[in-house]
Amino acid sequence: MWLLDFLAPRSCVFCGTPSTADEKSICTGCLSDLPWNEAPVSPLPDVFECSIAMLHYSFPIDAAIKALKFHRKLFYAAALSEILCTAQPLLPSDIDAVLPVPLHWRRKALRGFNQAAELAQPVASLLGVALLRNIRRTRATPYQSGLNAAARARNLRRAFTVGRMDPHRHILIVDDVVTTGATARALAKSLLAAGTRKVSVLAVARAG
Ligand SMILES: [Zn+2]
Repeated sequence: MWLLDFLAPRSCVFCGTPSTADEKSICTGCLSDLPWNEAPVSPLPDVFECSIAMLHYSFPIDAAIKALKFHRKLFYAAALSEILCTAQPLLPSDIDAVLPVPLHWRRKALRGFNQAAELAQPVASLLGVALLRNIRRTRATPYQSGLNAAARARNLRRAFTVGRMDPHRHILIVDDVVTTGATARALAKSLLAAGTRKVSVLAVARAG
């Protein structure tokens, strides 16, 4: 590990301060200044066993997420996944698979990557569980921003196709931002209909 650090000296993605030995992508000062959610676990779990968003969707996280998604600033993915990993003590203990919210292939081709998959991989490693990839987004849903909750839900009907998979006890959906939760909810319903017993959701930030 020290060799990797030696070869790739890192600095804070937000302020540029060189990282100390126990810091990763975000320095201690910037980490404590993030817009942490004082109640990250939602009291209204909905179809989810547990619904967690670590931060409020505000500066500098909103800018970091947009830079990652729309300007390919991939170094933010490591920082955002480190934030997700801080959720470990809050997560249910029986999670046996992690699922990044799938992007439609056309949007993934345009963007070059699925940001949720980049964020979910370190979470799966941390929990020591599989990262699921055989769930497809079968309808290219239009961008959800600007739509009300009913329109979002309508957009998302039959949006996901769950491929053949081993039965899972508890799948953790990972996404960058939850707004109304309509996307994660549609995905959760598809998973539950396919035989998954429980579904939870973990996001970096909650908007609104
Ligand atoms: Zn910093």
